[in-house]
Amino acid sequence: MSDTPERPVDGEEAEQSGFVSLGLDSRLLAALAALGYEEPTPVQRQAIPILLEGRDLLAQAATGTGKTAAFALPMLDRLVREGGERRGVFGLVLVPTRELAMQVAEAVHRYGKQAGVRVLAVYGGSSMGLQLRALERGVDVVVATPGRALDHVRRGTLALADVKLVVLDEADEMLDMGFAEDLEAILDATPDGRPMALFSATFPPRIAVLAARRLSSPTELKLGASRAMGAAPEGQGRVKQTAYVVPRAHKLAALSRVLDLEDPTSAIVFCRTRTEVDEISEKLNARGRRAEALHGGFSQEQRDRVMRRFRSGAADLLVATDVAARGLDVEQVSHVFNFDVPSEAEAYVHRIGRTGRAGRAGSAITFYEPREQWLLANVERLTKKKIERATVPTVADLKARRLELTRASLRETILGGGLDTFRVAVESLADEFDLLDVAAAGVKLAHEAAGSPGEDEEIPAIPVPPERPRFAPRGDGPAPGPFPARRGPRLAGAVRLFVGAGRDAGIRPADLFGAITNEAKLPSRAIGAIEIADRFSLVEVPGESADAVIEALRRTTLRGRKVLVRRERPAPPRR
Ligand code: AMP
Repeated sequence: MSDTPERPVDGEEAEQSGFVSLGLDSRLLAALAALGYEEPTPVQRQAIPILLEGRDLLAQAATGTGKTAAFALPMLDRLVREGGERRGVFGLVLVPTRELAMQVAEAVHRYGKQAGVRVLAVYGGSSMGLQLRALERGVDVVVATPGRALDHVRRGTLALADVKLVVLDEADEMLDMGFAEDLEAILDATPDGRPMALFSATFPPRIAVLAARRLSSPTELKLGASRAMGAAPEGQGRVKQTAYVVPRAHKLAALSRVLDLEDPTSAIVFCRTRTEVDEISEKLNARGRRAEALHGGFSQEQRDRVMRRFRSGAADLLVATDVAARGLDVEQVSHVFNFDVPSEAEAYVHRIGRTGRAGRAGSAITFYEPREQWLLANVERLTKKKIERATVPTVADLKARRLELTRASLRETILGGGLDTFRVAVESLADEFDLLDVAAAGVKLAHEAAGSPGEDEEIPAIPVPPERPRFAPRGDGPAPGPFPARRGPRLAGAVRLFVGAGRDAGIRPADLFGAITNEAKLPSRAIGAIEIADRFSLVEVPGESADAVIEALRRTTLRGRKVLVRRERPAPPRR
């Protein structure tokens, strides 16, 4: 791979590249600059022009690709250009979970704040009163879960007559959760011929059916699959690739810990945004590292200064965005860290091409959240190389590693000789103490003097997500219908919970699914088989989560009423 810059990287010119060329409103551009976004991700580059033109879109994009901005920016652009005093809802975004509703609403708010856009997240479990008052006052963009959105539509409190763009986000998840009928009912309530965008990480047949029914001559974006999949780039064979699964809030602690363990001689830490670069480099410096920040907002002079410090070894870490790192002439680094999984697989390949050069060994270490699993799989597909998944090393691993370093330096010292002066001290102590104790005390002093670079804060261990697809391929089992009487795999170590409401009370798998993921915060993959009988339902959850799920379900309501929830009683013995 060459170090020739692919694009201008001067501060000024970099500012001009990217989003400006998409022709977005200046207030949106200002918001993006404030967030530190340097250039559009592939899904944004492709989707934004299509949605700006008001055409339908069918896009394969998983979390982490930048899909939220890909639909939010054109939606907001059209909204602000239309201007004027609006009352009706302009943009409707349907999402599978309450968590995603809040996340998307926050993103829309951040992008649209300067333009005065009003956004509301609408989901089950939050106060109906608050939602009603906000809807009454007037909202431009509604981000909703299908169940609650439909409640509002039926009550007449969410009018969709003025909607100009409908987005189905994570459509596969919505169908998987049994929201098919709700979706159809909501879409029936929106005016015909409105542009619509459907985003989905996977394309099971039911998505194709939905798209065929609801989209009109959509442009299809299949990211990752469109590019030529060549052989692994030169040098990559020597790069050890590891990905650590870690909750977002603990990423910095995880990076610090892995830096302690790996002890890189020279490394680049890649981040997505300028803001992140500034933040991470500051925090790493505060933790005693020598890190330099570099992003597209830097002048040529600043860049030169940073690079001089990095090359001379005055800084051993370079924290950079992809844009800033593009033109860099750095011969070899021992480690590349991806603070986030890059939103496109090609960027990953560029990044890790910085290490493992000229026959030397290199390490590429990526931190990912469980839901970014898809992005890693994309990278593996492109590079045809496996990325080893692991949980973040524990404090005990770190301690063992530090002791190992101390042991190694003691060994070097012994081999280096020149110990005569110290032998005298050992001999005099040996009269009084056991020789092994004397040696151990020496090791302790040396170990403590080496210092403990990071804080040993606890990082919650989350299991490495399974790498198999969430949907069994066709032929691998019964395809779930929109309202299967029973869904999900039988989980090992699961317990069955009895829920005192069933078909007669209007309970559907989606209700239980939604209540458990939203109220008990259980990830959807942790929920096993759900069976709905006339008067009751049974749901399988992991044994260790059973009490939390029972408590959460007892607190909430299902189809508007409190229900009995308990562990399933074993069947009485047969006589
Ligand atoms: P999403 O796939 O929409 O969940 O976005 C994943 C993350 O990427 C979010 O934290 C966004 O803030 C961030 N992001 C989205 N677009 C860009 C961009 N063009 N440059 C940098 N970061 C971005």
